Order: sequence, then structure tokens, then C-alpha cells
Amino acid sequence: MDSKSSTKTASAAAKARASSKSTRVAAWFARLARARTCRRKARSPLYTNIDLDLQRFTASLFGDSLQGGAIAIDPETGAVLALHSAPTFDPNRFIGGIPPDYWKDLTTDVRRPLYNKVIQGRYPPGSTWKLATATWALENHIATLDDVMPVPCTGGFQFGDRYFHCWEKKGHGSLTLAEAIVKSCDVYFYQLGLKIGLQRLIAGGVALAFRDKTGIDLPNESSPNFPYAIDYYNRRFGARAWNNSVVLNLAIGQGENSQTIASMARFYTALATDGEEARPEIVRQTQPARTRIFTLDSAQFMGLRRAMMGVLAAGGTAAAEAIQGVVLAGKTGTAQNTEDPVHNHSWFVGFAPADHPKIVVAVLIEFGGHGSHAARVASKIVEHYLKVAPASQIQTEG
Ligand SMILES: [Zn+2]
Repeated sequence: MDSKSSTKTASAAAKARASSKSTRVAAWFARLARARTCRRKARSPLYTNIDLDLQRFTASLFGDSLQGGAIAIDPETGAVLALHSAPTFDPNRFIGGIPPDYWKDLTTDVRRPLYNKVIQGRYPPGSTWKLATATWALENHIATLDDVMPVPCTGGFQFGDRYFHCWEKKGHGSLTLAEAIVKSCDVYFYQLGLKIGLQRLIAGGVALAFRDKTGIDLPNESSPNFPYAIDYYNRRFGARAWNNSVVLNLAIGQGENSQTIASMARFYTALATDGEEARPEIVRQTQPARTRIFTLDSAQFMGLRRAMMGVLAAGGTAAAEAIQGVVLAGKTGTAQNTEDPVHNHSWFVGFAPADHPKIVVAVLIEFGGHGSHAARVASKIVEHYLKVAPASQIQTEG
């Protein structure tokens, strides 16, 4: 290379560097301008749906002693009125760097305060699921609310070489579907599950969105666990290593099914309205996101709601109209705890007022045992929101 062409090359390189520098400077200014715009946008007010009074009250119900979570949703709009995971942490202590001791406490606490139990905890839905099985059977004309199953409940049900218990050891006798919801009879639902069949029961869970996240506007929501098809069992256990008894567990909300507290609440927004579920929203939206997941006629809806109110439609034991005040409709549940079989988790999912629901509440208390524990917490949340104590005849298990 001669000196002339070398000078030329050096000058071209200098020009290229200058040009590259000016491009980088321009890009830096562009980023700065975008950041300023973002900061300006961030200053615009953000309105949430949280009812601060209800939020504080819900947190106070858990206090320092209860572990689990609760969510309250307006079933028409999906507005999240309260969402609490217990134990919780103080987000203000994260500002400007979290003190190392506090961080260590949070990350080593076995109750997992950094883990949002409402959207990340996954629990077997237990009997709160029976409404899903019933809804699917009704929608597909597999059973009516008046149908009786062939085997009356005597405290359990023989299937193959296994005996499947009902929670009520004394048995419930012969029941209609409506009565089986009121009494939460496992033996009825085992037989309903067999009548629906495994393939259709799985298809039902998928159609009712039990494999989907709720889409709540919070980060890190977990997907529920639910089979996608019969093939799920072949892959998990091996083609010959499972049998049709899985359908019995699935029909009563046990087995290969675990749901978040938020996903159960979302399903009940559809029961509380007209079969359309509402996406839970923390931030106020102009248009609620509603999706139809099932279609029932008004008599079926009324029958389900009466059963969820603990009112027997047939037999005249109690008439819904006779109950004074606000009526809470819902279902308790006991979720088997694989880590500690003695201390199960306690569920309640329901809504009020039963005839014109304004609030859906889902509560799960870890190691809470009996479902009535969660029902009492839910009832207080409803009472605080509606300013009226709910009158309830909900039958709880056990
Ligand atoms: Zn029974």
C-alpha cells in the first residue's frame, strides 16, 4: 500500500468513525427522548379497581396467623376488588435497596411470602370443582338436575378392586343432582363422572378454561394443571399403568387437577352471571373482557344457584324466598395436601347476593382443614362489601 492510498484510507476510516459516532449520539438522543416520553406517560394517573377498604379488611382477616389467599371480583366487569396473599411483605422496604436481613427473612420463610398464592399457588380444587362437573353434564344433556344415579350413597362406592369413600361415612342415600350439589355427595359425582366419561370430562375442563391462565394484569401468573387429553395419562403413567378410576377422582376435583385461587374465582364469575367469565383486572378498563364458556337455560341456572345456596329445590325443605337478607351461594372444598395429609387446605368459592351477584369471592386457607373455615372468611368479606351479613345454609363437608 502506498502512502497516498494509506492517507486516503485513514481519512475514510476517520469519516466512518465520525459518522458512526454521530449515529450513536443520535440514537442516544432518541432513547433519551423516548425515555422522557415514557416518564411523561408514566405520570398519567393509573386507576385501579381495588376497593382499598375491602383490601385492608381482607388482609386483616388473614392477619399474621392464616396462610393462603383470597380474591374478590365483580362478576360483571372482572374488576378485582381485593386480592390478598398471606403472609405478605412490605413493598416499601424494597425502595432504594432492600435491607439484606429483611431479604433473608423473606427468602428463607417456609410460608413463602414472596409467592403470590392467589395467582401462583396451585391446589386441587376439591368439591368447589363439582360445579364444573355439574355444569358440563347439564350443558351436554348428560344429566338433569333431577337425575338420580343407579347406586345410592352408603358412604362409598366400589369401582373395580377399589373402594372410593364419600366424605359422609354414614352415606347420603339416593339423591338428585341438585341434592348431590347441596350435600356435596362424592358417590353421586363418581357415578356422574363415569357417565360423562374420561374423554368428555377432560374436554369439559379444557372448554371451561381450566388449562388457561386467567389473564389477570399481574406478572408471573401460573397456569393451572389439568390434562389436555387422555394421552396425558399415557405419557405420565405409561399406557397400561392407569385405569378408568382416574375419572372418579377427576369428577370430584381431585387427581390430576390443580387450580389457582384466581382461576376458580374466574369460573364462578360465569356461574354468577350468564355463562360468560370475566377476566380479572386490577387496572380499571373501559371495556370488561368477557368470554362465554358455557350455555345453560334459565331453569338450569336457577337450579344450580339454589343448590349452591344450600336450598333443596325438591322436597320443600327450605325455599330460597324464605331466607331473609343477602344469600351467599357457593361451595366449600377440602383440598388434599400431599405434603401434609393430616392438614388439608380449606376452600370456598361463591358469590352474593345469590339472585343478583355483585361479588365473587374465592378463599383458600393452607392447612385450614375443613372447608367451613374458608367459608367463614369469605362470608365476612361479602358482609363487609355488601354491608349486610349473608344468611347462608351452605352444607359443608365433614
Ligand atoms: Zn355421599
